[in-house]
Amino acid sequence: MKANDRFYFELGKNSDGKLAMKVHEYQAKEILRARGVPVPRGSACFTVDEAMAAATDLAGDRWVVKSQIHAGGRGKGGGVRVVDSLEGVREAAEAMLGMMLVTHQTGPEGQQVNRLLVEEGVEIARELYVGLVIDRSSQRVVVMVSSEGGTEIEEVAATHPEKIFKKFVDPKIGLTEPEAVEMMAQLDLDPPQAAEGGRFLRLLFEAFWETDASLAEINPLVITADDGVIALDAKFNFDDNALFRHPDIVAMRDTDEEDPAELEASAVGLSYIALDGNIGCLVNGAGLAMATMDIIKLYGAEPANFLDVGGGATTDQVTEAFKIMLRNPDLKAILVNIFGGIMRCDVLAEGLVQAAQEVKLEIPLVVRLEGTNVERGREILEKSGLDMITATTMADAAEKVVAATGN
Ligand code: GDP
Ligand code: MN
Repeated sequence: MKANDRFYFELGKNSDGKLAMKVHEYQAKEILRARGVPVPRGSACFTVDEAMAAATDLAGDRWVVKSQIHAGGRGKGGGVRVVDSLEGVREAAEAMLGMMLVTHQTGPEGQQVNRLLVEEGVEIARELYVGLVIDRSSQRVVVMVSSEGGTEIEEVAATHPEKIFKKFVDPKIGLTEPEAVEMMAQLDLDPPQAAEGGRFLRLLFEAFWETDASLAEINPLVITADDGVIALDAKFNFDDNALFRHPDIVAMRDTDEEDPAELEASAVGLSYIALDGNIGCLVNGAGLAMATMDIIKLYGAEPANFLDVGGGATTDQVTEAFKIMLRNPDLKAILVNIFGGIMRCDVLAEGLVQAAQEVKLEIPLVVRLEGTNVERGREILEKSGLDMITATTMADAAEKVVAATGN
């Protein structure tokens, strides 16, 4: 993977910096069910009454009540309960709805649970893992299977990489059923289980392909007591660039689950990703943004965000970018690093001045401008009387901005 792609992959984004659209487990399962991929019966519920009605409809003597948030690790955090009575369904629903569910993926404050999935209980014989992602360096979908279901795949990759089997799928052919069966057979399944598993895997691949997904993870994929194969959990992300041809998926968006700053940025055409440090970065181009973040780290500090204003940013977009960055209370200094190619330095400078007028800038601002119309840009900044530190090279800029934070 290229550095850029790795960065976006780790953040769960697409490589143009936009958010990869996520859906809830119950929505992923609806997508799968519609394409014949076996999933447990169940339905989404917003209230305790709805949960009771859903459990009553499902009948049986075991139910699973599952918190629906866009984060994994819910089981360990108390967000998944298997219960044996309708009273148990009520208790679980009452406990979960409205709770702040904390998992290793939510951050310490957690994510509020507003929706539940109430499902029929499934009798588990074995828990397996299946994942599909796009490998950008080979430009193929890579299918991964492992016998270590239920555990996080990152952990398996770190401790037992030999237990993950991969296949890079030829886009002209797709994943054939014999190939899928062969993959599953590597997991020590009986022939009938491998056949069922292969059928599952091929259908899952087709669902991934047809929906322009960027990630699909079934963890665990379960072999049931009677040799059935069923997706007990389902995570799907979709490529933002292809959403225009999937209005049904766009309709599944739950903005309660998305970072408000990132949402706002994407609404005005900016790629903004919040990070943990305290130096705000405003850069044009993903490559330069990456290099800027790297050099800040090299000088001993951490970036507060990734912000790519793109090639043709307008004055208003630059102003918006500033406002979004400044909403972060941890921000100690801002580094503007612009290489004017398509983006002209004068436009950027006007944006900076406008932004500084609209928002009260109380933290140090370091500016490095190079490229198209740089002289005019510098002139605009000088005339404005804007309080800032100018820098020449990348290293100079990084050194100055880190010094400005008092580190
Ligand atoms: P995650 O923790 O967010 O990945 O949520 P999962 O959907 O993977 O659920 C966590 C765990 O709950 C699973 O690994 C199973 O062990 C358990 N679980 C979920 N559904 C069922 C079920 O129908 N029957 C049983 N026995 N266990 C279940
Ligand atoms: Mn899971």
